[in-house]
Amino acid sequence: MALRSLRAAGAAWLLLGSIAGSAFGQGDKVAPSGAAAHATDAAQIAELVAANRILADQGVLDAFGHVSVRSSQDPSRFLQARSGAPALVTAADIVEFDLDARPVDPGDKSVPLERFIHSEIYKARPDVKAIVHSHAPAVIPFGITAEKLRPVYHMGSFLGTGAPVFEIRDGAGSATDLLIRTPAIGAALAKTLGSASVVLLRGHGDAVVGTSLPEAVFRAIYTAQNADLEAAALRLGAVNFLTPEEAKAATATNAVALNKAWLMWKQQVAAKR
Ligand code: MN
Repeated sequence: MALRSLRAAGAAWLLLGSIAGSAFGQGDKVAPSGAAAHATDAAQIAELVAANRILADQGVLDAFGHVSVRSSQDPSRFLQARSGAPALVTAADIVEFDLDARPVDPGDKSVPLERFIHSEIYKARPDVKAIVHSHAPAVIPFGITAEKLRPVYHMGSFLGTGAPVFEIRDGAGSATDLLIRTPAIGAALAKTLGSASVVLLRGHGDAVVGTSLPEAVFRAIYTAQNADLEAAALRLGAVNFLTPEEAKAATATNAVALNKAWLMWKQQVAAKR
């Protein structure tokens, strides 16, 4: 009996060890770019850590998905956590990348497979300062049906005339694992995004951009909420969407108002630590 419980305890310990070990460490091992790292902007890193925790707390990111921010030190660099669950991210996990998605000084950290979502959008869109990639369940139906994700209320106004849908089969064939694994697929995704704020990835998720980290987080959260509401409305009948003019006006208002939400979300995650 004693031996059996000892074995059980040992098995549990092994299991716990493997769970702890799997939180970080997947993804790609990539050699350093060879470029010099920039001086660390501790405040920006703290904001990025908060963004990871907020998006996990709000249910936009689960064990998967990621958020990045363009470096305050150099617009040709961005910061993103190493491969791992966003809810567990700390300042020590943040890695600096160049716009070819090469980590500058990764140490022994693995980096996310889908980092090309970020690098190629930053390359194509100088106005973009932060990006969220998620598999938020609410958006998935709008990537796999003819229904367009469009703004049904003022909080989703940044959806404008509707989110474009990226079809990976067009450039990469019908046998991929759906992931954005190469610069070429990332560039095609950025092209589909165009000047929009959100692009849906068919059968996968979405990518949301903002002119600041709080704006990208705000939009990622309200992309999922708008999708939930739009699906609910479609079940009731014909939907009365925002006009493009209403969408534009509400987006201008929200650009200021979103800081109220950002401060609240930061406090909420800080209180949980
Ligand atoms: Mn993904």
